[in-house]
Amino acid sequence: MSFDLLGLSDELLKAVSEAGYETPTPIQKQAIPPVLMGQDVLGIAQTGTGKTASFVLPMLDVLAQGRSRARMPRSLILEPTRELAAQVAENFEKYGKYQNLTMALIIGGVSFSDQIKLLDKGVDVLIATPGRLLDQFERGNVMLTGVDIFVIDEADRMMDMGFIPDVERIGTLMAQRHQTLFFSATMPPAIKRLTDKFLNDPKVVEVARPAQTATNVKQYCMSVGPRDKREALRDILNDDPDATAIIFCNRKRDVSVLEGSLKKHGFSAGQLHGDMDQPARTAMLEKFRSGDVKILAASDVAARGLDVAAVSLVVNFDVPMHPDDYVHRIGRTGRAGRSGKAITFVSRSDEENWEDVIKLIKVDVEKMERSGAKPARAKKTDKTEKTADKPARRSRKSQDEKAEAVPAAPRKTGATKAASRRPARKEETVVGLGDHVPDFLKVPPR
Ligand code: AMP
Repeated sequence: MSFDLLGLSDELLKAVSEAGYETPTPIQKQAIPPVLMGQDVLGIAQTGTGKTASFVLPMLDVLAQGRSRARMPRSLILEPTRELAAQVAENFEKYGKYQNLTMALIIGGVSFSDQIKLLDKGVDVLIATPGRLLDQFERGNVMLTGVDIFVIDEADRMMDMGFIPDVERIGTLMAQRHQTLFFSATMPPAIKRLTDKFLNDPKVVEVARPAQTATNVKQYCMSVGPRDKREALRDILNDDPDATAIIFCNRKRDVSVLEGSLKKHGFSAGQLHGDMDQPARTAMLEKFRSGDVKILAASDVAARGLDVAAVSLVVNFDVPMHPDDYVHRIGRTGRAGRSGKAITFVSRSDEENWEDVIKLIKVDVEKMERSGAKPARAKKTDKTEKTADKPARRSRKSQDEKAEAVPAAPRKTGATKAASRRPARKEETVVGLGDHVPDFLKVPPR
C-alpha cells in the first residue's frame, strides 16, 4: 500500500516522499484515515513504529482548514519530556514544510517570552509538557477552549512520571467537543481508566501487542556479578568498536559513575540524565546524534523515546525496575527498520526484575557468555594487559579498583582507535534544541 491511498493532501505526499518514506507503517495505515475523518483514536504502539507521523500527518491536513485565534491554540500535543516534544516539533517542520501552519512549544529550556508572543498571535499547534503548560495557563498566557485536536502521547510514561493528575486537569480545560488522539505503548489499568474518560468511541489501533518488543532487535542476557559489570561492558564495546550505544542504568548517580569510568578507559562516552540542565542535555544529544560521542550512559527518563537512527546497541547495565521500561529501552535500537542488539546484565539483585521482564515480553532471551571471560586461574600477564585492546581478566577486586584509578588521559583502546578511524556521522533529524534550533523558533513573532 502506498501513502497515496490514505487520503492525504498533495503537499503532504510531497513532504513524505522527500522524507524518503515509500510505504506507510502499520500504525500509519490504520490511524491516518480515522484521524482525517475526525474520529478519536487509541493507538497502542511503541516508539519506532512510525507513530509520530501517524498523528502529525493527518493533523497537518485537518488544521489546513480554519484560522487560529490569539492565545487559543487549535491543537494541543502533550509529551512527557522536552526531548520528545522537540522531536514532535521537528516532525511538524519536516512534514509541514509546504503548509503554512504556526507552532509554539512550551517546554523547559525554550524561551517562554518568544513562545508567548507566538501564542498571542495565535498558533495552530501547541506542543507542551503538562507541568509547563499548566504554569502558562495559570498565568493567563494560553487558553485551551479553542483546541479541536488533543493528542496525548506516551501516556504510560506520563503515568510513570506522575503527570496523570496534570493531564486530567488539562482535559477539563478544553471545550466539550474536540477530537482526542491517545497513544501509549502499554495499557495498565490507570491508563485504561484515562482512555475511558477521554475517548469517545475511539478507533483502536494496536500495532504490536502491549509491551511487545521489536522483532528486529536481537536480545541477549548475560549473567554478570555487580562488580564485574563495568568490565563486561568494556569487553562488549571492544568487541563491537563501531557500535553507537546507549547504556541504561537505573540510578542517575550510576550514570555519572559509568560515564567517568568509560572515559577513563578511553571510550568516547557521554551521559544523559534528568538532573542535568537543559543546555547540557541538548548539547549531549547533539554530540551523540552527530557521532562525536559514541556511547551514551543514560537514565530512563532522559532517554525515553529518543530517536537516533544510528543506535546499534543497547546495554541494560541494570535490569529496569519497571518491566515496561525494558521495552522502551531496547526500542532505542533497531530504529526505522534497521537491526539492533540489546544486551541485559543480570546480577543476582537483578533477577527478580528480570523475571518480571520475561513475563511481560514473553520472549526466550538468549544467554550470552562474556567474551573476555577467562578461567579463574588464568596466568598473570599484567604488563601486556595494560596495553592490550581487550585486557585479560584480573581478580575482580583489583581489576575494578584499577578501572577507577586509570589516569584521566584516555588510553587508546579498540574503541578510540576505531573512533579515530571513523569520520563523525551526521544525522538528518536533530533531537532536542542544542545548537540546532527548529526554524519556527527562529522566526520572530509577526
Ligand atoms: P516514531 O515511531 O514516530 O518514533 O518513528 C520512528 C522512525 O521511523 C523515525 O525515524 C521516522 O522518521 C521513521 N519513519 C516514520 N514513518 C516512516 C515510514 N513510513 N517509512 C520509513 N520510516 C518511517
